[in-house]
Amino acid sequence: MIAVSEPRADAALVWFRRDLRVVDHTALAQALRAHAQVYCAFVLDADILGRIRGNAMRRVAFLHASLVELDANLRERGGGLLVAQGQAHEAIGRLARALGVTTVYANRDYEPGAIARDQKVAAGLREIGVALITHKDQVVFERDEVLTQQRTPFSVFTPYKRAWLARLRDDDLRGHEVDRFAARLAAVPPLQLPGLDELGLEAHHALPSGVVAGAQGAKRLLADFARRIDEYHARRDFPAVKGPSYLSVHLRFGTLSIREAARLARGRSSEGASTWLSELIWREFYFMILAHHPRVIDHAFRPEYDAIRWDDDEQSFAAWCEGRTGYPIVDAAMRQMNQTGYMHNRLRMIVASFLTKDLGIDWRAGERYFAEQLIDYELAANNGGWQWAASTGCDAQPYFRIFNPVTQSQRFDPQGKFIRRYVPELAGVPDKHIHAPWMLPSVDQAALDCTIGRDYPAPVVDHAQARERTLQRFGKVRRSE
Ligand code: FAD
Repeated sequence: MIAVSEPRADAALVWFRRDLRVVDHTALAQALRAHAQVYCAFVLDADILGRIRGNAMRRVAFLHASLVELDANLRERGGGLLVAQGQAHEAIGRLARALGVTTVYANRDYEPGAIARDQKVAAGLREIGVALITHKDQVVFERDEVLTQQRTPFSVFTPYKRAWLARLRDDDLRGHEVDRFAARLAAVPPLQLPGLDELGLEAHHALPSGVVAGAQGAKRLLADFARRIDEYHARRDFPAVKGPSYLSVHLRFGTLSIREAARLARGRSSEGASTWLSELIWREFYFMILAHHPRVIDHAFRPEYDAIRWDDDEQSFAAWCEGRTGYPIVDAAMRQMNQTGYMHNRLRMIVASFLTKDLGIDWRAGERYFAEQLIDYELAANNGGWQWAASTGCDAQPYFRIFNPVTQSQRFDPQGKFIRRYVPELAGVPDKHIHAPWMLPSVDQAALDCTIGRDYPAPVVDHAQARERTLQRFGKVRRSE
């Protein structure tokens, strides 16, 4: 990082990636302080877009709307967004040459693929005499900033959180001022962003209703959550209740600054606020784990669990994906994700446990499916969450603790309000039976016009038997260990 107090009379380029906002933007603030003229650009990266298919296209819809807003916000300040297409190293090299900049600024990204991309971009820029300078922005503390006393990475969350909190100073959450030097933003021609259809989106890939992209969407959600944050700890586990913040997609695309989110939590002294701050720390914990152990992308964090023999059951996997396992809470959750691109955290834990421990299917299959559906898909958190539920991860759920989908449902959706929203076939089933409708006597099923096996599936698996199989599956690996 360079620290320049006096501006230099040269031009720089800010490369936006997962930081689609103008407020409190580290790279932009630094470039504006150091350069007389600052261009802003986004690359529609062929390597990334080429891999996105199906419902994951909903993320492209979010990105598209956020870029339109970003351009408008830059224009308000005298600048504008340049959009390039192709592979990042070529596109950024082309732009740097054409604009005659000496430096490219970006905020750091911690995914292994992004790190490799940035190294390639830096090497290409070096050849033409341009520097790539990256800044911390996506997290409060990055990879090596919170370590054990032995200077090694943590693998257990609670001590990591304690060390994270002990390190935190007001300065770490200070916003990065952009507007003071905004006059240095370079004016550029009107936005040239391909249309949604040119990016391959079809009508059903539109942003799910209620999702507002861009910094404007984040601002609204944050203001709404600020009124509820003190109750977060008590409400966050009940999917039928408006308990969590729903900000994950904004943290994913950087339409909200993590510092602003953490300031909200730190500014309150309630149990709700400190519980929410813990969730933001989980996010950084998983970023840190991925940065130190990139092999977790396709291997168990605990290598002994790579020996687990998972079942290969296509029919059950399809039933899980499509929300027709016969377990209402699992089906409602999967349908929520398929329809809206979001799934409540408690439900993510329940369905991940169900896939791995009731159906005995490899966590990697579930992780991939989530990546295709979630609008807030985040490699580090998704991998961490899946390995937690499958008991293969660091600080994971012990393998012998197996969620019972019926008791989870009774506890967290007691009146079946959430289930009824997404599984209308069961709308008329009384509360007592909504969690395990197969227990409803057949005369009552007939009277309700909801015959199990005809109008709603019979359970694809018996939970008690599946539990035994899972204990054996893990037991075998532990014995051979
Ligand atoms: P809130 O409860 O309001 O939490 C605030 C923020 O904290 C979230 O937006 C998120 O950034 C972070 N956060 C909360 N819980 C976690 C957690 N357990 N791990 C890491 N960060 C967390 N989160 C993602 O952002 N993307 C994913 O792809 C993702 N996949 C998951 C898969 C599984 C199997 C599990 C169990 C969890 C996953 N999570 C993922 C974590 C969590 O479920 C979501 O972050 C949360 O549900 C998003 O809703 P929210 O913004 O209302 O969260």
